[in-house]
Amino acid sequence: MSRVLIIGAGGVGQVVAHKCAQVPDVFSEIMLASRTREKCDRIAAQIKRPIKTAKVDADNVKETVSLIQSFKPKLVINVALPYQDLPIMDACLETGVDYLDTANYEPRDEAKFCYKWQWEYHERFKKKGIMALLGSGFDPGVTNVYTAYAKKHHFDEISELDIIDCNAGDHGKPFATNFNPEINIREITQRGKYWENGAWVETDPLSVSKVYNFPGGIGDKKIYLLYHEELESLVKHIPTIKRARFWMTFSDNYLKHLEVLQNVGMTRIDPVMFEGKEIIPIQFLKALLPDPASLGPLTRGKTCIGCVVKGAKSGREREYYVYNICDHEECYREVQSQAISYTTGVPAMIGGMMILTGAWRGEGVFNMEQFDPDPFMDKLNKHGLPWQETFF
Ligand code: NDP
Repeated sequence: MSRVLIIGAGGVGQVVAHKCAQVPDVFSEIMLASRTREKCDRIAAQIKRPIKTAKVDADNVKETVSLIQSFKPKLVINVALPYQDLPIMDACLETGVDYLDTANYEPRDEAKFCYKWQWEYHERFKKKGIMALLGSGFDPGVTNVYTAYAKKHHFDEISELDIIDCNAGDHGKPFATNFNPEINIREITQRGKYWENGAWVETDPLSVSKVYNFPGGIGDKKIYLLYHEELESLVKHIPTIKRARFWMTFSDNYLKHLEVLQNVGMTRIDPVMFEGKEIIPIQFLKALLPDPASLGPLTRGKTCIGCVVKGAKSGREREYYVYNICDHEECYREVQSQAISYTTGVPAMIGGMMILTGAWRGEGVFNMEQFDPDPFMDKLNKHGLPWQETFF
């Protein structure tokens, strides 16, 4: 029986609030706090169980500390933006409360996400006797757990890992992103990078692609190589991996829009002067694009995210695929959100459950693959993200 404070009332925060509310024996009391309180109240009104709401600017450590001190949660689930990771971790340190997020810290002025900043909190969290669980969404998150599960049950040694993220959904809009547009576009427009033989290999943005045949009736889709944060922690914690890559599907239409927006400077993250005022083009673009939360009732089709793992078992080479297929419309019927928010919010809730029930425990800062994957895999099947596996 534990109180949880959820920070961030966007697409993902909505799913986390719904899913925590479905498990009252673990999440005994819930508070949803965000910069705009009305968004929290709107979500609270969708949920049958009463949940508390509050306004907080999580960039301001003092504000978060005083909210934590007044509500007294056992855990803070951070589903605001990556910029807030460090100030929220500071507030957890000050108050002695466990921490969980779904995306690693990223400075505002540089599209460069890596674990360095958050891993540096390890000793301080350890000394305080609290834990931080990093990247408990789908990718990162479930993909890390899938890899740990493959290692535990199916391989003596993993040598290759391909994480493949397919969104075969359609929202009918000419151009929209499935989660926060600013974070999404920063991720996609940076240079690609993958791990090979002990070093990072860089590629031009979206310059490497191939066609992949997805299960579940999705069929052939073009996938593009991107850098994604779980590669960094996975090659650190599973050092036998010789090659690790991350792939994502994009439609030709999406890429055409993105190219034009980039060419005219609309994806820039540095300030420009406009009518005597500084604006950041990508933030202006975010204001014009559809709010990802508004895509819920419009999106049809499925997502398929999984890991293709190669390696050896009992001296023989094998290839294994573990994945989840999620239906946008089914997600909307359950929690009034599309599958991208759903596939992120459910693992955030399950990560919270792992911490609060003691199934996963440690002092310091941890990535998902450092814990026993079995209880998490079990909960995925029970809470809306069933997985399937196959050997090639
Ligand atoms: P949204 O933009 O929809 O929501 C973000 C929320 O955070 C908004 O409610 C926003 O408030 C709030 N927020 C922003 N700044 C602050 C602040 N300073 N203090 C308090 N609240 C703040 O994003 P999503 O829900 O789509 O994404 C949430 C997180 O999930 C992101 O970090 C994203 O990277 C991550 N993610 C992870 C995935 C994974 O698989 N691991 C996949 C998809 C997303 P306001 O409305 O007032 O702006």
